[in-house]
Amino acid sequence: MEHELNVLTAQAMAVVRQALPSFELRTWSVHRVSELNPRLRGNPEWDWPVLIMRFTVGDQGFDASTTLEEFGQWPEIVEAALEAVQEAVQHDRSLGLPSNWPECPLHPGTHPMEPFADGETITWGCPNRR
Ligand SMILES: [Zn+2]
Repeated sequence: MEHELNVLTAQAMAVVRQALPSFELRTWSVHRVSELNPRLRGNPEWDWPVLIMRFTVGDQGFDASTTLEEFGQWPEIVEAALEAVQEAVQHDRSLGLPSNWPECPLHPGTHPMEPFADGETITWGCPNRR
């Protein structure tokens, strides 16, 4: 699992860097929500996994988190990671990137691309192809 995650981490890095060359993924880890907040410990209603990541764009640091459907589904983890990067970057106006970043090359001036998990490969593409 760790090897696969490293391969997919490298893939996710490559995918993001096509649109944002100064992107660096610093850390990422998956936890149960109930592990992160002592008041929720042992409560099965708060047992779902959450991805926590730290990344930089140039010299600017970002912390992002996103909930996951299941544990250990690594294509989903990378897909969620790309979505978290996208959301953080879209909302940080200081980067000067458009709110539809990364813009869909098939439909300029409209929607952003979305991450797709296809087997072991993660790509960013037009959401209308789903
Ligand atoms: Zn499109």
